[in-house]
Amino acid sequence: MKLYNQVAMITGGAKGIGKAIANSFANEGATIVLFDINDVVLNQTADNIKKRYGIEVITVVGDVTNYNECQTAVKNILDKVDKIDILINNAGITKDNLVIRMSEQDWDDVISINLKGVFNVTKSVVKSMIKRRYGRIINIASVVGQIGNIGQINYAATKGGVIAITKTCAKEFASRNILVNAIAPGFIATDMTNNLTEQQKNYICSVIPLARFGNVVDIARAALFLASEDSSYITGHILSVNGGIYM
Ligand code: NAP
Repeated sequence: MKLYNQVAMITGGAKGIGKAIANSFANEGATIVLFDINDVVLNQTADNIKKRYGIEVITVVGDVTNYNECQTAVKNILDKVDKIDILINNAGITKDNLVIRMSEQDWDDVISINLKGVFNVTKSVVKSMIKRRYGRIINIASVVGQIGNIGQINYAATKGGVIAITKTCAKEFASRNILVNAIAPGFIATDMTNNLTEQQKNYICSVIPLARFGNVVDIARAALFLASEDSSYITGHILSVNGGIYM
C-alpha cells in the first residue's frame, strides 16, 4: 500500500474530485480527514469510505475562507491523529460571468474560497509538517489558470494564483522535506461542470485532443502519484491532467 500509516486531509472532500482522491488514498491505506462546508454530503461520503475500506475517516465541517476556523479545525485534527502527512487543497467554486457583468460579490466569493482558502489551510497545516520534517501538499489548480477562459476572470485569477502559491511554497518548504505540487485539471465531469449546456460540452470536447471530459479518477491517480514516494524528487511542479487541451 502506497500510503500506509499516512494521514491525508482533503478540503472540499465531500464530493467530486476531492471524494475521488479520498477513495483512492483510502484504498492505499491512508487515514482520511475530510474538510468540507457541506455537512450532509460530507457525512455520507465519510460513511461510505469507512464501510468500503474499513478505515478511520475524520470529518470536519468548516469553511476554508475562515482563517480562525481553519486553525481550530487543524488543531482538533492533530489532537486526534497526531499528524497530517498529506494536504490536498481542493475546495473550490465557480461564479462565472463576463468581466463587464461580473459583480463584486462574485469576484470576492471566488477569491475567498479558491485563493485565500489555500493560504488559510496551508498555513494552518504546514507548521506541524515543518516540525516533523515531512509533508506533501497538493493544490488543485486548473487549466484555466494557465490559459485563461472567457467568463472566468475570477476563477482564472485564483487558479493562476494557486500555481504561484505552489511554486512559492515549494521553495519555502523544500529544506523541511515538504514537497508542494499542483494538479491543473482540464474539464472534468463533476457537479462543477454539470451546468454547462450540451452545446458548450460538445464545443469543449471538439477542442480537447482526447475528445472527452476527464473523470475524477484521472485526477485521483495524479494525486496519488504526487502524494506517494513515487514522486519524491518532484516539487514545484504543475501536473496537467487535461486531455491535451493545453500542452
Ligand atoms: P465540486 O464537485 O463542486 O466539489 C467541491 C467541494 O468543495 C464541494 O463539496 C463544496 O461544497 C466544497 N466547498 C465549497 N466551498 C467550500 C468552502 N468554503 N469550504 C470548504 N469546502 C467548500 O467541485 P469539483 O469539480 O470536484 O472541484 C474540485 C476542485 O477542482 C476545485 O478546486 C475546482 O476548481 C478544481 N477543478 C475542477 C475542474 C472540473 O472540471 N470539475 C477543473 C479544473 C479544476 P458545496 O457543494 O456545498 O459547495
